[in-house]
Parts: sequence; C-alpha cells; structure tokens
Amino acid sequence: MMRDALDFRRKFITPQLMLEFYAGIRAAKDRYSLISQFEIPPATGLAFKIGRGQIARFNISHGPQIVDLDIFNAQDPRQRLWANHTMNSEGFWLSTFSRLWSNLPNSRPLATIVEDTVETDQSCGPARHHHIFGGHCNPQEWYRATGKRGLPNCYENLCASVAPFGLSPDAIHDNLNLFQKTLLTNDGMLRTVRSDARVGDFVDFFAETDVLLAAALCPRGSGGTELSDPDQERYPVTVQVFQSGFLPTPFE
Ligand SMILES: [Zn+2]
Repeated sequence: MMRDALDFRRKFITPQLMLEFYAGIRAAKDRYSLISQFEIPPATGLAFKIGRGQIARFNISHGPQIVDLDIFNAQDPRQRLWANHTMNSEGFWLSTFSRLWSNLPNSRPLATIVEDTVETDQSCGPARHHHIFGGHCNPQEWYRATGKRGLPNCYENLCASVAPFGLSPDAIHDNLNLFQKTLLTNDGMLRTVRSDARVGDFVDFFAETDVLLAAALCPRGSGGTELSDPDQERYPVTVQVFQSGFLPTPFE
C-alpha cells in the first residue's frame, strides 16, 4: 500500500500558508458539528446546497462506490467546476488539499478537499483515486456496451438532480470522479479498476463559497466490472454536512 499523494502535495503544489490553513481545518475534524445526514441510493443522483465554511463528507458506508460529483456556485450556477484548469493546477488525481476550481471569467476555488482517507494499492500499476479528467457515463455509452436503452447513467442522474434548482441539462459539464480508481496503461489508455475505498473511508469537501453539489452514484458501482457486465457491484453512499467552525480565506 502506498500513500504518497499527500507528501507530493506538501512538497510541490500547495503553498505553505495555504497548507497550514487547510491542515488546521483537517486537524479540527473531531470538533465539526453535524448539520444533516442522508443516504444516496445506488444508481441515483441528488443535489444539495452547503454554505461557505461548511463541509460535505462523502462516506463509503456500505462498500466501494464511484460518485460523479459536480460543483456550482450556489449564488451564480454559471460558475461551475472546470476540470481542465483543476487538472492543470492540482494534478490528474485529487486528494487531501486539492482545490476544485471554477470556470472563467471568475476562475476561483469552489471547494477544497481537507481529508481523503482512501489508501491506494498500486500493486496493479501507477493507479490513484478521484481523477478529474474523466466525464460521466451516459445513455450512449451504456447502449454501446450492453445493447440496452433506458439504463441508469450518471449524465441523466446529474441532470435530474439539478433540475429542482432551476438548472437545465446545459449546466452539466465537468465532474470529479470520486472514489474511482484509475490507472494509465502502457498504451496510454485510462483503465478503471475496482476502488480500494473501504467501509469507513471518506472524503471531506470544504466549501469556499456557498455551493450546490450534484452527486450521481455511478451505476458502475465499485468500478470492478465492465459496463457490459449485467451484475454491477453497487452500494449507497452516506453524506454528512458539518459546520467546520472555519471560514474561507482568499487564497486565490
Ligand atoms: Zn457513471
């Protein structure tokens, strides 16, 4: 087992002052106060708002489960997660102290990961979790894999989840592939393998402003099976929202 992502960020990416601020939040996690808790069923989507300074914790409560996570500024949803810039600034795979950036013209951090307990087993190759350069599964992809129409998929679940907030499908662009384990193969392909996330693992997102989070629990479940497999290993995910006791500072 290797856990070098945090050391990498410490050395090369996050400036010291910023690191100390987020490390302080992380160190206070036993003192966060719980605001709400709910479960998202497998192969469904749900969107919810949290305020600036609050934490959304995505818990692996039943078994390894990929979550496609989209983020919007709740005050102005035209400001949304921008995967390209996040990848350029933070790396291909995100972890503790990674920041999730919005699109132009007001590119700004929407949320920062302040804890990621998932440990990656790299015995299968140079794999990591939580990549930012993937998209979301969609009706066409499932049809090509199975020959069936009408199967649940992350794109339609994300679209449905944001509809109650007045957003059309046009709002759905980039997302984080939370808990998904991927590796780059020698021929340059990105391959998904079964997530190493275990029951009890979680990832904490600190809201840098009021945000709308849209989460789709991928029908591909743990990622351990191909799309064409009729039996996908799927689990619910438990979300907790906390008051962190901290307010964002303008590291931009
Ligand atoms: Zn999916």
